[in-house]
Amino acid sequence: TLDVSDLQMHFPGLAAPVLAIERFHLPAGGQLAITGASGSGKSTFVNAITGLENVTHGKVSWNGTDITRLSSGQRDAFRARNIGLVMQDFHLFPGLSAFDNVVLPVRLARRLTAGERERALTLLAATGIDRVSQKIETLSRGEMQRVAVARALLQRPGVIVADEPTASLDRNAGNEVAELLLRLSAEQGTTLVVVTHDAFLAERLGRRICLASGRVDEDSGESAAQ
Ligand code: ATP
Ligand code: MG
Repeated sequence: TLDVSDLQMHFPGLAAPVLAIERFHLPAGGQLAITGASGSGKSTFVNAITGLENVTHGKVSWNGTDITRLSSGQRDAFRARNIGLVMQDFHLFPGLSAFDNVVLPVRLARRLTAGERERALTLLAATGIDRVSQKIETLSRGEMQRVAVARALLQRPGVIVADEPTASLDRNAGNEVAELLLRLSAEQGTTLVVVTHDAFLAERLGRRICLASGRVDEDSGESAAQ
């Protein structure tokens, strides 16, 4: 579960907070779409709940752990264990194969286990990538993003957070990535939080919130939320 309370994000030079969320709750296994105009605070919200950015004020708890109280090193470790990230511009490493990109986060921390090696191959097969030893930059953009989805899922995170995962893809490739995110996270009971302008993707997530000037302006799950 995600519990946000009294969350504020300020940036230097801006009088008004870029984000001001009084209370927000998402149950474990929930699926959330975040929409809203450019500059409404979607990425800032995602960076706050994943601990990528320090919050100015307030609490962000995952299953009761308030990540705003952790040191930055503890927060990085928490994110690595619990949250799979998928970004608009993939954040893949050129020069490495698709397989090596998927296992890189593990290899940076420790030796890859045989089970993880097997799982990486299974996930890549599920994404429809068969050229796993080919350099990542020789794949299409849609294939690259599907590799990024496999990487996000390798360590069985409880949560996947994706910021505009289909925005830099054409419709067809975008739909394939959307299908994959939905299918794999449903299979694993993963909580899924997706920032998206893509109506096809937003409609298929359980709940949709719309941000405006850093506040929750509409919430399709308001009655269900506490
Ligand atoms: P987009 O759809 O264009 O990605 P967004 O909803 O993700 O927009 P954010 O990136 O969260 O919007 O930005 C919200 C506001 O915060 C914007 O006005 C932006 O200029 C401002 N902002 C974001 N990051 C910083 C920063 N590091 N320093 C100052 N202002 C920032
Ligand atoms: Mg953004």
